[in-house]
Amino acid sequence: MNDLPQVLIDRFQRRVDYVRLSVTDRCDFRCVYCMAEDMTFTPKEQVLTLEEIQEVARAFVELGVGKIRLTGGEPLIRNNILALIEPLGQLPGLDQLAITTNGSQLHRMASDLHELGVTRINISLDSLQPRRFRQLTRHGNLNQVIAGIDAAIEAGFEQIRLNAVILKGRNEDEVLDLVNFAYQRNIDIAFIEEMPLGLIDEHDRALSFCSSEALRDIISRQYTLEPLGDPEDTAGPARYFRTTGGPTRIGFISPHSHNFCHLCNRVRVTAEGQLLLCLGNEHSVDLRGVIRAKDYTLDTLKRTIINAMSIKPESHHFDLDEAPDIVRFMNTTGG
Ligand code: SAM
Ligand code: SF4
Repeated sequence: MNDLPQVLIDRFQRRVDYVRLSVTDRCDFRCVYCMAEDMTFTPKEQVLTLEEIQEVARAFVELGVGKIRLTGGEPLIRNNILALIEPLGQLPGLDQLAITTNGSQLHRMASDLHELGVTRINISLDSLQPRRFRQLTRHGNLNQVIAGIDAAIEAGFEQIRLNAVILKGRNEDEVLDLVNFAYQRNIDIAFIEEMPLGLIDEHDRALSFCSSEALRDIISRQYTLEPLGDPEDTAGPARYFRTTGGPTRIGFISPHSHNFCHLCNRVRVTAEGQLLLCLGNEHSVDLRGVIRAKDYTLDTLKRTIINAMSIKPESHHFDLDEAPDIVRFMNTTGG
């Protein structure tokens, strides 16, 4: 028996039981709010191997983490990603294995993911107009993504949610179309306020900001929204509403207009193995160095993670009118 605790608690008494693992910072898209057109990616040797990611996952699960989300970059373009998903799907103690994806590979991978134990899937979709979709993602093919969404529905995941980032003057006229699309397919949708992560020059983030409140007003023209009070459903940053007459839930993730830090139950690990304690702050701990050390043991990794809880910040602060404090792009942290 060792003396290690079995749960992760930070100094504000928040229990951390959810980890997002970025498996790559690379992507086949270049969404205008997420990346610059020209990006420099992490050299391969600095990225955690699939075995190292599995080890990190195991350490967290042994510390009481019940939910892991794989993200990126685009997680489904990481070479041999199913070889990571298979053992994660069998990790004792892991209740939920989720993925956030741009959907480009789902038409061919959805059923394998489901069979290997992925329970929930978030798929990004910002437009239903092929040309606009291409402009916003710079490379994306809308038909391929819609085929992927339909393949995911067919595969039978426990929960499917679309994620949409709405930019003023670009796709705010599609808010209702996106909700209707989710509604017709009986899946959920969340609208995410754009966050100032990384320096981009494609648009002015302050000018294109659309608040969740404004989007809720638009949706209310067609749908009656009932707030969901069940903490099971609302835990985490999204505030959910049920639509009358269907199972679709509509969520709003509002880092600007509704600060969710006091509920924060999550940490993130970048593809390079940096443990990030907060999306909106730089506090981090290097796990790759621990794993690659000569005298590595799972216990040392677990101790490093436990100690890191003491630097998890109380809250973030985003200001769209100032140069971003956080220079890393969203593809580094995976959202
Ligand atoms: N490539 C996958 C995808 O697009 O779903 C996973 C990674 S992506 C970084 C995760 C989520 O972050 C996506 O839903 C995306 O829309 C969102 N995102 C990216 N950059 C963002 C930003 N600056 N502000 C808010 N959300 C952002
Ligand atoms: Fe790629 Fe996802 Fe970022 Fe779009 S949001 S560029 S799909 S990582």
